[in-house]
Amino acid sequence: MEQMKFCYACGAPLTTEFKGLAENYCKHCTDEGGKVKSRQEIQAGLAEWFKMWQPNIDDRIALERASHYMKAMPHWVDESQNKQAEATRKTARLTCIVERVAP
Ligand SMILES: [Zn+2]
Repeated sequence: MEQMKFCYACGAPLTTEFKGLAENYCKHCTDEGGKVKSRQEIQAGLAEWFKMWQPNIDDRIALERASHYMKAMPHWVDESQNKQAEATRKTARLTCIVERVAP
């Protein structure tokens, strides 16, 4: 039996119904070209989805929950790790320059 895959950006099960053009992403998180949508778009989509299940929550809470939920998704985890790696690289470069100019 093939293991069920989930969308890297929103966690939706990648059944034939949800599968988009991109590998590992559902059709709701990608555009017609298979490109992953922006964080804001996906967050707004998730917020709508939360409100569907919990009609009594307002937009602000729905967005907050969406943001929290996205933290567990591989796509956004990678994104923050990439930013961290970038920051580390910049710091390393700076240290290198400082060492060179120091007597
Ligand atoms: Zn998705």
